[in-house]
Amino acid sequence: MTNPNAVVSDAQSAIAMAITAAVNTSSLYSPSVPNSPCNITLFSRNKFPKSIETAVTATATGTQSGIGKNIAWVDVMRASSPTRNSSEDSEIKRVWIMKHPSALGVFEEIMSAAKMKQIAIFLDYDGTLSPIVENPDQAYMDPQMREAVKNVAKYFPTAIVSGRCRAKVYNFVRLSELYYAGSHGMDIKGPSSRKHQKGNQNVLCQPAKEFLPMMSEVNEILMEKIKDIDGANVENNKFCLSVHYRCVEEHSWSDLADRVKSVLKDYPKLKLTQGRMVLEIRPTIKWDKGKAIEFLLESLGYANSKDVLPIYIGDDRTDEDAFRVLRKRGQGFGILVSKTPKETEAVYSLQQPFEVMQFLQRLVTWKRSILQRNY
Ligand SMILES: [Mg+2]
Repeated sequence: MTNPNAVVSDAQSAIAMAITAAVNTSSLYSPSVPNSPCNITLFSRNKFPKSIETAVTATATGTQSGIGKNIAWVDVMRASSPTRNSSEDSEIKRVWIMKHPSALGVFEEIMSAAKMKQIAIFLDYDGTLSPIVENPDQAYMDPQMREAVKNVAKYFPTAIVSGRCRAKVYNFVRLSELYYAGSHGMDIKGPSSRKHQKGNQNVLCQPAKEFLPMMSEVNEILMEKIKDIDGANVENNKFCLSVHYRCVEEHSWSDLADRVKSVLKDYPKLKLTQGRMVLEIRPTIKWDKGKAIEFLLESLGYANSKDVLPIYIGDDRTDEDAFRVLRKRGQGFGILVSKTPKETEAVYSLQQPFEVMQFLQRLVTWKRSILQRNY
């Protein structure tokens, strides 16, 4: 970022840089936020909400004309590095926290909105229930966290919504009473053990099923294509291929992005998006974590119900689709897990997985106290 006072999401700063490099225009930047108590410059989400993915996809697949595509992609990749602690700028953080209060700090207020409603819990996995680690195969969940999720699922329908393939995230969580939405919601399955009376437990939804042979084919090609780049690896998440570059030297990022793009040129039905230190290849269907939430709420019997309060907790750009859906429905709310200020559709915030665990534990205590009172 060139402006040290700017507060933007990882993705937006990345895309802004990508767009800047690709089309060389400053017209997409918004001025400082009106009435802001300090000099914070935010990119207006409304000015290019759809262009985020379009720009990435177009640039990645080479459908966008213009110069600097390689530079743009390296900028995108660089900006997706784990966010740094912004303690040096406490004012920016203070203002952000006022806008997105800690879900622990305003717990009672949150619960007052839950009166007479069924709470439904949606949880991202990496960075939310588990710490972000160098080797994605070792993103283990703390046993205490597992216990907290298990207890939550005793009282509330609970789903894990992850970019990982469903089998892999299940192996990390190992709780059969949950719903699992893997591959960014493109692979959904209901609990194998029945806990809640309402809704359809035998859920199975794979909206991109027809893409499976193609994904498998591209996985093989990608593995071959990048095998000599030290630290790079392809994770097959069934409906999403994740090319991790957390362990790749920065001078090789451009080469890596080029190779991934060259593979995708032959697959126009696939798109390239950006996560935290990962390039992700997905089918170009209109399906994301937000759609998965809508599907799950419908499956639970709350399609048009006002009696439900969905709570979604996540840390990643892909979780914004779910936050956005809850905002649009005017039901429930998103909680962003982040130590640093980011533009988000979430209402509340938590700083790290440990606080997520505390929030889940308080939720259980709150529910138990209500049940005891009514006994
Ligand atoms: Mg995550």
